This record gives sequence, structure tokens and C-alpha cells, in this order.
Amino acid sequence: MAEGNKIALVEGRLAVPDNPIILRINGDGIGPEITSAAVAVIDAAVSMAYSGRRRIAWMDALAGDQAEKELGDRFPESTGNALKEYRFVLKGPLTTPVGKGFRSLNVRMRILLDLYANIRPVKYIKGLDSPLRNPEKIDMVVFRENTDDLYTGIEWQYNSKEADTLRKLLNDNLNVKIDQDAGIGIKPMSKSKTERIARMAFKYAIANRRRSVTIMHKGNIMKYTEGAFREWCYDVAKREFPGNFITEEEANALGSTAPQGKILINDRIADNMFQQIITRPESYDVILAPNLDGDYISDAAGALIGNIGVLGGANIGDFGGVFEAVHGTAPKYAGKNIANPMGLLKAGELMLTHIGWVEAAKLVENAVGVAIAQKKVTNDIARLAGTKPLGTKEFSDFLVETIKNQTA
Ligand code: NAP
Repeated sequence: MAEGNKIALVEGRLAVPDNPIILRINGDGIGPEITSAAVAVIDAAVSMAYSGRRRIAWMDALAGDQAEKELGDRFPESTGNALKEYRFVLKGPLTTPVGKGFRSLNVRMRILLDLYANIRPVKYIKGLDSPLRNPEKIDMVVFRENTDDLYTGIEWQYNSKEADTLRKLLNDNLNVKIDQDAGIGIKPMSKSKTERIARMAFKYAIANRRRSVTIMHKGNIMKYTEGAFREWCYDVAKREFPGNFITEEEANALGSTAPQGKILINDRIADNMFQQIITRPESYDVILAPNLDGDYISDAAGALIGNIGVLGGANIGDFGGVFEAVHGTAPKYAGKNIANPMGLLKAGELMLTHIGWVEAAKLVENAVGVAIAQKKVTNDIARLAGTKPLGTKEFSDFLVETIKNQTA
């Protein structure tokens, strides 16, 4: 048992003790080594930022391969209970098989804690090898809805009894014919779930003085799901944040830019969005998207800075968060001291910011910037820069030393 106290929710706000208990899930593949590296750097940053007054009490929770080996269950009840109790997790990547096998543990955790927003900041770090000519223009934050849409996993195999029942129901009642050899999935998108992610994105944009929020959708084709998402988002901005936003139409009428103090709100159809962020990255800032669109656009945006290995993400709800790297388990590098822990560190930065420990987050961010500028990096970045790589452990040692030498 870690010596610490639980983070609580008091009158809708987080109450964070100086020694908060945060769960640590090592994950599969490269997970254990990048988690150890990230934890060492985060601990050093917290210790330096608060002169030893604050400290995270890490508590191990088992999931994935290790849990299966030790407890015969990839997501044991004890881990589910710990999640419900402590609600904040730094998580290494977990294996999910394609097309068959067990359901994504990541999705299960998001559902368990109702972590409805997946937040992924994508900002260029000087020194990375980007495919764009002017990568310094990239500074976007994707807010992706996490609990609705096709990821609810309501689907049936083409030859199942359930698919047959549904085919008959649709045919008999709604005159809808579905091919006998078609699998069937259902795409629910609700007003309440859309409104809460929109609210969170708008609050973020206001608090962080962002320039614009772009609603991404495929509403021209899927009118009552994706099209409704667009409408509901605009409605929340108008109803709950009057005075903060200006629509593109209103801005155009004033001469095409948002006036001082107003945040531009616009929307783009999903396919257009992909070419827009590549050809005009400077025009996009906060991107608000449904689950599937958000999944695609966050990886595409990540690729613009050159390497999804350096991106972190946060899954956040009204109370709780799972913070993780964007990349997966990279099994071919497992146990070889080669993998880059930067994605998980970026997730750690988001976690520290979320609990209000922004000084520690800043130390981590600065140290990563120093490492990249000095080309003290792991193989994935070093091979592009033509420099000698550091191992995972040596890279984290470098960051710890850099943090110790920084003044908070
Ligand atoms: P992946 O694990 O992200 O690896 C793909 C490639 O990305 C690697 O071969 C490597 O590229 C590079 N890479 C990723 N992370 C790296 C790191 N930290 N350091 C250095 N290089 C890194 O993607 P995948 O192979 O598609 O997925 C493997 C498993 O991870 C699957 O079971 C998938 O479901 C799971 N996954 C889990 C999560 C999660 O837990 N949130 C997220 C995504 C995927 P090179 O080969 O070019 O060196």
C-alpha cells in the first residue's frame, strides 16, 4: 500500500493532497521500461518544483499480460476496484488484438470512470524532424469524444443470430434492407454526451486563451449523428458561453478575423479537415470531434510534428483521468532499452497540469525540450537526426539530471 491520500472531488473541484495516490499500470511490450523511465522523471520534477514538500504515492495496478500471468485475468476485479477508488492512472500501452479476442482494456477503463474526453495536444518541439516545411506553426489540441459513437462496440458478426434478428426488424418495420453477408454496427451519438465534451473543450479554449475551436464532423452524410453533433456543439457555445465565441459567418461579416477577446468557432467536414491541417496548420487550434473522427485526426495531427512516439494523451471525465502515450506496445522493442518514453512523459505532463501541479509539468516540458535540442534522444529520433542514440534508461537519466540543474 502506497503511503498517500486519495484525490477527492469537493463541490465539483479536485482536492489534491501533497501526496496523492496515483495508480501506475506498466502495460505490455515496452510498457514497463517506459513507465519506469517516465515515473523517475516525473518524481524528479515534482521533488524539484516543490522542494520535496509534494510527492506522488504511486500504487501499482495490474492489467494486460502481467495480470493474466499472475492472476489469470487481463483486467482483474482488484484493478477495476482500485480504479474506482483512486480514479487517476498513469498507464503504459496495453495489447489489443485486431478483429477477434478480448475487448480493448483501454476502452473498458474509459467506460468504468466515464472518461468522456480524450485530449491530445500536438505542438511542434524544435529539433524534431517534421514532414512539414514550417512545423513551428503546429499547435493544436484535439478534444475527442470518448464514450459515444462506433466505439460503444454495438456490433454483430454477419452470420450471427443477432444480425439476422436486426435485419428482419429493419426490413419488416422500416423497409431497410441489409445484405445477408453484412456485419452490422450501430452508431449512437447523443445530445448529452456531445454537450459535455463540447462544454469541456470550450472551457479549455477560454481558460487557455486559444484562438479558435473547430468542430469536425461528417454531417453532410450522417445527418442525425455527425450533423447533430455539429448543431449541438454550436448550441452549447451560444447558450452557455455567450460573449466568448464568434462564428465564422459573424467574423466574415466583420472583415474575416475574430475581434480581440473573442474565440472563433467554425466547423469543417471530416475529409476536408485532413487536408486543412496539413496545408494550413496555422489555421487550426482546438479541434472538437466525435469519437471516430477524433481518433483519425489526432494521429494525423500527431504525424505532422514528425513522430507519434513523442505524443501523450489524457482521458478525462468529471472526476478522474487515465494518462497515456499515444503509441502502442511496440513489441519488437520490448525489453531492449531502445523505446522512447517521451509519449508517456508528455502524458505525465498533462496529468501534473490536470491536478494543478503546473510548475512540475513545466520542468518536465523544459527538460524534454533541452534533450531534443541537444540531440540526447532515443533511437527513433536519433536515427533521423543521424546522431548516436541513448537507451531508454540513459535518456531518462539525462532528463532527471537536466531537471535537477534547472531552477523551478
Ligand atoms: P505501436 O505499438 O505504436 O508501434 C508501431 C511502431 O511505432 C513501432 O514499430 C515503432 O516504429 C514505433 N514506436 C511506437 N512507440 C514507440 C516508442 N515508444 N519508441 C520508439 N518507437 C516507437 O503500434 P502497433 O504496432 O500498431 O500496436 C501494437 C499494440 O499496441 C497493439 O496490440 C495495439 O492494440 C496496442 N496499442 C495500444 C495503445 C494503448 O494502450 N493506448 C495504443 C495504440 C496501440 P518503427 O518500427 O518504425 O521503429
